[in-house]
Order: sequence, then structure tokens, then C-alpha cells
Amino acid sequence: MIDTHAHLTDADFDADRAEVIERAKEAGVEKIICILCEFNEKNLAIFKELLSRDFIFGAAAIHPHDAKDFENRKSEFLKTLGFPKVVAVGEIGLDYHYMYSPKEIQVKVFEEQLLIAKEKNLPVVIHSREAPADTLDIIKKQKPRRGVMHCFSGDEKEAKEYLGLGFYISFAGPLTFRNAAKPKEVIKMIPDNRLLLETDCPWLAPQAFRGKRNEPAYIKSTYEEAARLRNTTVEKLSDTVTTNTKELFNI
Ligand SMILES: [Zn+2]
Repeated sequence: MIDTHAHLTDADFDADRAEVIERAKEAGVEKIICILCEFNEKNLAIFKELLSRDFIFGAAAIHPHDAKDFENRKSEFLKTLGFPKVVAVGEIGLDYHYMYSPKEIQVKVFEEQLLIAKEKNLPVVIHSREAPADTLDIIKKQKPRRGVMHCFSGDEKEAKEYLGLGFYISFAGPLTFRNAAKPKEVIKMIPDNRLLLETDCPWLAPQAFRGKRNEPAYIKSTYEEAARLRNTTVEKLSDTVTTNTKELFNI
């Protein structure tokens, strides 16, 4: 199994990060993509340490929440993209739910980071919350070379649009929620060669751990639910996600 989206630098893991990684390995997690969105000294040191492990890869970007601080953070962000084993720009996108940064600034920063990814020939990890039309418009306009819609919560129509643009679709813990009718339907129509799974930990723990801090080891229940919905086995699904992760992130 691979966890394609984990925020392992988050302070929620400060007390037991080494154990969290050990538990992930014991649970059968073979690779983790660690997403870095805050470039302070402490996080950068943790990120570098994590990347020194052969099964951990990285992605870095300014999150839409922090779009208003883009100029201040840009140089650290660009420097981080140059670290060995940083394989993607992400997560980037639009979040009209919290609106920590004004819409126009989010749009501008999203477009700029798409451009940076293109220049560096890196795939993009897209965050889109309550902004389906604008996200799609910008992606259609900017045409990133490769990318994934992370923690996908859209409907079948939206999924088809992104599949048509060559995107991968990734599902997280909410797939396992009892009341999650939409992702449980949408995941059935994603072709094998476009499917990814993730935790988005420390958030969005699967149903069995709901309310707790999430961690990579818990991804097993998301694989189990995805396998059940797609009428396959966890083993076959793991192979599929592994192949897709290699393709998308070039690892
Ligand atoms: Zn995330």
C-alpha cells in the first residue's frame, strides 16, 4: 500500500513521529508522499529528515489558505522544490470554504504555482474545496502536464472532466464514512490507471478511527473499502495504486 498524501511534518506528530512511521511500515505501507505547506525552520528540518528515508518522498507548495502570504514564502518554497526526492508541487488550489485568503489572491497564487510546476516539469497535487467551477476553469486554462485531484469529493460529472484532462483522482478517509454516498459511487467509475488513495493525515481519519488523529497506518481501511466498492482485492488495488504512483510522481 502507498499513502500518496500525508502531512507528516504537522505538529500533531511531534510527540510520536518515529512510532507513526514504524506503525505505517508494520501495517504494510510501502511508500508515503509527505506534503509540506509550511516552510518554517522546524518543519523544514523534519521534512529533510523524513526525505532521508528511502520510502518517503515529498511535495511542497503554498496552500490556498496561505495564498495571501505567497510573496513572503515564495523563496523558501522554491528552494524546497530543489531538495532531492521532492517529486510534486502541492497542495495548491482553491478553498472557498474557509476563505483565509481572498478569492482573487487564491486564484493568482494557484495560477503562478501551476506555472512553476510546468517549468520544473513536476506533477501537481490539487486541493479544491467549494470551488469546483473556478478550479476546473483554471486547470483547463493552464493545462498542467500531470496531476491528481487530492481527497476528491466531487460528483461523477466533475470526475469525468478531470479524467478527460488526464488527471488522477485520489480518495481519502471520507470514502469509509457511513454517510459518504457520493465518493462511494464515484470511485466505481474511476479507471484502474487513474486511481490513487491517501490519508491526508493528521486529518480525515477513516470511519473506524473517526474523531482521532489520522496516520498512514490507518490507510488500510480506506484500501479495504475501495477494494470492496470496486469488487477487487486489497492486493490487486495496492498493485494498481503503486503503478499509478510511480507513473504520476516518477518514483
Ligand atoms: Zn492535504
